[in-house]
Amino acid sequence: MDAGKGEGKLSLAVEHVDHDQLLHDGLSLLIHEYNLFNEIVPEIYALVPDFSKWRLVLTGDIAATVNAIEGRHEGNAYTTNRGAGHVGGITLPREDGIFDIVLGAQIFVSPPGDHEDLEGLVDNARKTAKHLARHEAGHMLLRLRNEDDQQYRNLTRLEPTAAGWADIVAAYMDDFRIERHTREFTPPVFRHQDDLGAAIDHLSSELTAAKSTWALDLDGAARRSDIAVSGFIRVIAYLSSELGLAEDGEPAFPEIIPEKWDRYLGTAWPLWSNKFHELRPAHEPMSKEQLAAVLTDLCDLASRWSSAIGYERGITSDGRMYAYWTEDAY
Ligand SMILES: [Zn+2]
Repeated sequence: MDAGKGEGKLSLAVEHVDHDQLLHDGLSLLIHEYNLFNEIVPEIYALVPDFSKWRLVLTGDIAATVNAIEGRHEGNAYTTNRGAGHVGGITLPREDGIFDIVLGAQIFVSPPGDHEDLEGLVDNARKTAKHLARHEAGHMLLRLRNEDDQQYRNLTRLEPTAAGWADIVAAYMDDFRIERHTREFTPPVFRHQDDLGAAIDHLSSELTAAKSTWALDLDGAARRSDIAVSGFIRVIAYLSSELGLAEDGEPAFPEIIPEKWDRYLGTAWPLWSNKFHELRPAHEPMSKEQLAAVLTDLCDLASRWSSAIGYERGITSDGRMYAYWTEDAY
């Protein structure tokens, strides 16, 4: 590739692939025979055309790579488990002003679903790599414009209970804006609506488990429900972006409505989707005030929605946290 066009020197690395022969051989094939980096680098360059601003790492173990970059240790280790769904990559802003963009390589070599021939696999890997790279570049772009979640998540004026959702919701607002951008330029091969039924089932079974264990371990049950509910808000953000709005301007619905849709989304779906759609795609700037206003409304909605599905979670005015499971069954 011609790295001379941008400023600075291009930094590429491959890590943690030697423990897995298939991963190692598959990735070398993609890189050396099919020029995988030639697919990835232009996607990042398109949003941040300065090679001195970022380093790219393809890794067979995202957690190990992140822990090494951040010098994290056991107990505070990074995990890629998000309750429903997994992380494909991460962007780490460093103190020196440079970003480390880390992409998981496993999904390029062993994607979900059936792929009969090498050509299909390579095509899938190429599209997935482009999409993930563009997504992570979107995080870098938002950060460079001071529009990432860190900049506006403390600007809400909310009661403690609704404000408790701010960190989670702000992170997925960024993802929504980025995914609205990638839809136009490098859409994913993966459809979130195909996994929606499984995501709802996961939420339902986690709440069921918490309901039956809270009397013995309240903190554990609350933590478990928090992870499941937060993971599902992530699903809502990605699904809103993927389905978009219909021609009449109203939120579009999944092609197949899963079991328990009415119970867990139903009437809340248009409220979520409409509110997310007040956000602009990542390439269109927004002010901190605009972002904080959407965040305020979404936190309020998250709090009401959680109560409505039977998980009453909050913070009292004197700072005590509480959790109740109000349904007999989930
Ligand atoms: Zn993201």
